[in-house]
Amino acid sequence: MSWHEWREAPAGDYAVIGDPISHSLSPRIHSAAYQALGLNLSYQAIRVPLEEFNHAVEHLKALGYKGLNVTVPLKEAAQNWAGEGKYGALNTLCLHSRTGINTDVPAFLQTLRDQEINPGSKLLFLGAGGTARALLIGAFEAGYEILAWNRTRSKLEDLLTDTGVAAEILPDADPAGTAAVINATSASISGLAVPVRWENAVSNCLAYDLGYASDLTPFLVQANEAGCRVLDGKPMLVEQAALAFEWWLKKTAPRGAMLTSVEL
Ligand code: NDP
Repeated sequence: MSWHEWREAPAGDYAVIGDPISHSLSPRIHSAAYQALGLNLSYQAIRVPLEEFNHAVEHLKALGYKGLNVTVPLKEAAQNWAGEGKYGALNTLCLHSRTGINTDVPAFLQTLRDQEINPGSKLLFLGAGGTARALLIGAFEAGYEILAWNRTRSKLEDLLTDTGVAAEILPDADPAGTAAVINATSASISGLAVPVRWENAVSNCLAYDLGYASDLTPFLVQANEAGCRVLDGKPMLVEQAALAFEWWLKKTAPRGAMLTSVEL
């Protein structure tokens, strides 16, 4: 997919920034929304290295950009830039008002509800990076019961202490008794599975990988073989884009067209 270095970016309306950025599906999703509603707006993918975040954002604002989506590894820098937010990370910025929101968390909670996994259910979270942090806070506040595992246990302990999320840390990723296992590690990006004891999963357990690929990720292949329901990160990606679209443009997002754009 086409993308630009921030110093060479064309003038535009909206963009996603991150590093790397070539893989991002956001231009496809937002362009599909503009097309469906007949909006004359542009959406670019722009590479911004972490250490150049503030310069790049000022430069893009001067070029006329109104809003930015922010992806790895810039979401924490985005929260510092906007100076607000309770999740430690923002993924949607309005440049004019210097404000931002996190649409990953409500999008994630919506996708759980869409699968009929409602507050009160028990979830097993895998990972302790920036995404796990935001989603753990969101799920805890929404009233889910939380089990958690991370390859490096101390990182998860620090995360829970920092955030005040009450979760039981497991010595290994054992899904016994859980309604869903959420893979918030970056293993799928590297084409790797995560060591989950799928043999202990209940029969309608949902294996939910926040990562995605054109085919099932290794995490989902193993879950599928064990008889679990599977869901990848595309519906969440589309929902976080729809919520960003609605925040910027104050119009209902055409979710059907947006979802179709990532299923092609
Ligand atoms: P980070 O780099 O911040 O976190 C990485 C985490 O993954 C760490 O906990 C790390 O463990 C763990 N990890 C990495 N490799 C492995 C492995 N091989 N086995 C086990 N654990 C591993 O990533 P993010 O939190 O930013 O992103 C996590 C995932 O969420 C990504 O796949 C990203 O694409 C996805 N995502 C999807 C979204 C969507 O809309 N669908 C939105 C946002 C994120 P350790 O601490 O031991 O190093």
